[in-house]
Amino acid sequence: AKDNGRQCFRFFTKTMQEDATHRMRLANDLRHALKQNQFLVYYQPIIDLSSGQVYKAEALIRWQHPELGFISPASFIPIAEDTGTIHQIGNWVFSQAIEQVKACQAISKRKFQISVNKSPVQFLVERGDQHQWLDQIRDSGIDGDNIVIEITEGILINNDIRVTQSLLQYRDAKIQVAIDDFGTGYSSLSYLKKFDVDYLKIDQSFTQSLSLHSSEYALCEAIIVMAHKLGIQVIAEGVETEEQHQLLKQMGCDFGQGYLFSRPVPAAQLIEFITATSTV
Ligand code: C2E
Ligand code: CA
Ligand code: CA
Ligand code: CA
Repeated sequence: AKDNGRQCFRFFTKTMQEDATHRMRLANDLRHALKQNQFLVYYQPIIDLSSGQVYKAEALIRWQHPELGFISPASFIPIAEDTGTIHQIGNWVFSQAIEQVKACQAISKRKFQISVNKSPVQFLVERGDQHQWLDQIRDSGIDGDNIVIEITEGILINNDIRVTQSLLQYRDAKIQVAIDDFGTGYSSLSYLKKFDVDYLKIDQSFTQSLSLHSSEYALCEAIIVMAHKLGIQVIAEGVETEEQHQLLKQMGCDFGQGYLFSRPVPAAQLIEFITATSTV
């Protein structure tokens, strides 16, 4: 047993060592990835549940590493946050999203919105990315409400002046705000009356356990009723089955996003998807 323990210990440290080495490699490679055009932005359509139409999508970054292949944002975004490369990467995603707004709006012939994820660290620097983003919007000629910024609720509870000011600037520019992964973070909801929030995104963990008599049903319904009373629209994430879709629709959920409708797809495929679903 004693030997076994030592074996485990050695194995464990080796894994940790490998993890640290891998992380350092990714951190280093991330610095060059942008220049070397290794990133792509995919777009996941967001469906209006009452009409079935699509006039929103979420921008999700993809990294095609030349040797390691596809690397999930869930593994490299945290490294980009720690090393500061998230700022450049985020600005690039934002510029791609603006171009995509123009392309989608041209074919959908109505206002098209693209949402972009913004990590807490992207707010918490001296001159936050919001200046750059506001400049990009102004230069592009699109409207502020063509863009939705997705943030997590954790960022709103500390009353950080940099966050508050960024959100006020967004409001002045008509940029909309969505609370991502809603329901997984904090129990206090007081931030909802303090900040101008446009959308709540119900986290996938609720959607995926949804059935008629589940506690998730009660939670989703309560979130939708509360949001609507506050003038906030609701997007359900991670919709994978027709049953989930129908239940959410019956509850009055405004929008749905998930594999049932479409996986995140390259820009050209989003255009095809919009063409196929629009009823003109
Ligand atoms: P998120 O913002 O919560 O994005 C939703 C994630 O759920 C995406 O994973 C999406 O592909 C996945 N998804 C969508 N529909 C379904 C479904 O029906 N079932 C399941 N199981 N999953 C679904 P992805 O693209 O791997 O992104 C992971 C996370 O990485 C995102 O979570 C977001 O927090 C972060 N991220 C992605 N792109 C960016 C970016 O440009 N900037 C920043 N700061 N973060 C990003
Ligand atoms: Ca998101
Ligand atoms: Ca607003
Ligand atoms: Ca989410």
